[in-house]
Amino acid sequence: MWSLKIKRFSAKKRIFCFLMALICVASASIPYSISAFAQDKSLEELNNRYEEIEKEIQENQEKLDEVEQDIKTNEQKLNQLNKQIDSIEEQIDLLDKSIGILNGDIDDLQYDIDLTTKDINKINAQIAEIEAQMVSTENLMVETKELLLARIRENYMSGGSGSTLELLLTSGDISSFFARKELVTRVSENDNELIAELSEKLVQLNELQKESEAQKAALEGKRTELDTQMVSLTDKQDDLESNMSAQQKKKNNVTDKKDEVKYLLDDLDKDSDAYKAAIKRQEAERAALEAEIEAVIKSQGSTENDVPDEEYNNDGEMMWPVKGKTTVTAGYPSYPNGGAHWGIDICVVGASGGTRDSNGKSYSYGEPFYAAQGGEVILAYNDGNWNSGFGNYCIIDHGDGKHTLYAHAKRLFVSKGDIVQKGEKIGEIGDTGNTTGPHLHFEVRIKKSDGSVSRVNPLNYVSKP
Ligand SMILES: [Zn+2]
Repeated sequence: MWSLKIKRFSAKKRIFCFLMALICVASASIPYSISAFAQDKSLEELNNRYEEIEKEIQENQEKLDEVEQDIKTNEQKLNQLNKQIDSIEEQIDLLDKSIGILNGDIDDLQYDIDLTTKDINKINAQIAEIEAQMVSTENLMVETKELLLARIRENYMSGGSGSTLELLLTSGDISSFFARKELVTRVSENDNELIAELSEKLVQLNELQKESEAQKAALEGKRTELDTQMVSLTDKQDDLESNMSAQQKKKNNVTDKKDEVKYLLDDLDKDSDAYKAAIKRQEAERAALEAEIEAVIKSQGSTENDVPDEEYNNDGEMMWPVKGKTTVTAGYPSYPNGGAHWGIDICVVGASGGTRDSNGKSYSYGEPFYAAQGGEVILAYNDGNWNSGFGNYCIIDHGDGKHTLYAHAKRLFVSKGDIVQKGEKIGEIGDTGNTTGPHLHFEVRIKKSDGSVSRVNPLNYVSKP
């Protein structure tokens, strides 16, 4: 960072100045020449430094503005990200609750399914048992049938009816065989009891089997229903879990982004602090320089109530520094938007009253401006540099404590030390230094008898014709 060091003239430089003064200003008194030369030299140096510092401050202020804009943007981003995280967390909580409820439902359903499966297994075992009993009963009946048929055949051989035997042999399944009346009349009472017993048992077993099958069908229907429910619940669970993992992922992304923005903000805060510190330092330097410049002007310029030099032909009244139709676009002591403004801005206007023609070309650019009063040019910069924002500018000392300043010139026709007459063309209006467009910035500075210098309202000294 540039630091202010007011250069003091070294012994060598002082001797050089002394010699230069001897050569250049032979006619003037020697002590006065040395002091004036040294002061001119240091005033110029101070002005150059002032100009450098102004530039640096402006640059740093621009950087600071950028950084602060970035900070604002990032803080807004951070807020948005925090809001996003809050809403995601709310959704995650809701999903957690839903998943908890669903898991309870699934457990209940699984319990039902397990119970039903147990019941089905039990019924299956019962059915198997019934079927086994049916098989053994049927076997017993087959054996009985063979026995009865053998006995009837024997009876037939000894002279019974052949048609009955034929009828019995042709009967279909075992139960219809035993149901035949012919059989009843051919067998003994004992056999009849056995037949009745077996038939009844078979009927009972058949009924039992039917009942069990019906129960089994009901249970299987129930289980199918439960299985369907289970599928839809596990589908729902899958959905919720994938939703949950998506939300977690989203949250992780947003949290990562948030961390990035936080790091960025930390860096920006550091940058901002650095720029603020630089500006503070530079402003202190500028204030010190301003004081130095004022001190030089105080020791060099004329004072209020001094009698002006005769060669100025000073008539005691200032004239408006631009001829033709003009307007004041910014007055003293502040711009229309509020910033400090220690002079007035004068623009040339066209017939319509505007400052630019229909093509946007300024009426002021290149138009001449004039010395408001006779005097001596005590400062003149015609180098096109920034010059503290004044660009090309000059100051005229009118010899009675009054000084006028003309800034932003396209070019100047005067140099430091020139004597000018009232109304003399001293430059052309331009837009050098800190301007938004071509205009003449005009100031009046008064050095009072107490030695203080102030920038006063120019409209107390000049008025628009
Ligand atoms: Zn101005």
